[in-house]
Amino acid sequence: MSDANANDHVPVRPFTVIAIDGPAGSGKSTVGRRLAALLGLHYLDTGAMYRGVTFAALRRGIDPIDADVVARLARQVELTLTDGGLVVDGTDATIEIRGPEVTRAVSIVAANPEVRVEMVRRQREWAKTHGGGVLEGRDIGSVVFPDAALKVYLTASPEVRASRRSKEVTDLSYETVAADLARRDALDQGRDVSPLEVADGAVLVDTTHRDIEDIVAELVALVPS
Ligand code: C5P
Repeated sequence: MSDANANDHVPVRPFTVIAIDGPAGSGKSTVGRRLAALLGLHYLDTGAMYRGVTFAALRRGIDPIDADVVARLARQVELTLTDGGLVVDGTDATIEIRGPEVTRAVSIVAANPEVRVEMVRRQREWAKTHGGGVLEGRDIGSVVFPDAALKVYLTASPEVRASRRSKEVTDLSYETVAADLARRDALDQGRDVSPLEVADGAVLVDTTHRDIEDIVAELVALVPS
C-alpha cells in the first residue's frame, strides 16, 4: 500500500507523458486520474474524444459507417474536455456520450482511419499545451506517444470489467453490459488501424484483484525522475 495521499506531489521531469491503455473496465480512468493527481500532471480521457465525435455524428443524423462524412465532421467538431465532462460544439454531452446509442456506435467511428489521424493530432497538441500529461485510451503507448516516459497496459477479467461497467450504467442489465463490452473488445482488437494491443515496452498490470492505491504506488515507482 502507498502512504502517499492526494495532496502529495511526486516531482516529475518537464513534459512527462504517461500512456495508459487497455480495454473498457480495466481501471484506466480511476488509475489514470489518481496517477495524474499524484504526479501533478493533467489527465486526458481519449475515449471521450471518440465518443464526442460519435455523439456529433448521431445528433446530425450521420450514419457512423459513412466514413468520409464522419471524417470531415471529426476535423470540424469542437471538443472541449472539462473536469470529467465533455462539451461538443457548445452542447454539454457529458451524459449522452456514456449512453447506449453512443456506446453502440463509437467503435465504428474509432475504426475510421481519418478520424484517428485527427484525434491523434489533437491529443499530441493537448500534451504540448499542457506540458505532458497522463493520457488513457487504446493506442496511446503504441501510436500517440510511443516514447512516453511510462507505458502501462491495464487488463482485468471480462467478468470483473463488465461488473465495474454495469455499476456505472445502472439502467442496463449486467448481461447487456457484458455483451457490449465483448463486442467492443472484438472491434477494438480486430480493427486494421491502431488496434488495441500491448505496446512495446508497456508494463502489464492485471487489476482484477488489485487495490487501486496499490497499483498507483507500483506505477509511481516506475516513473523516471
Ligand atoms: O475508453 P472508452 O471505453 O470510453 O472508449 C470508447 C471507445 O473509443 C473504445 O471502445 C474504442 O473504440 C475507442 N477508443 C479508441 N482509441 C482510444 C480511445 C478510445 O479507439 N485511444
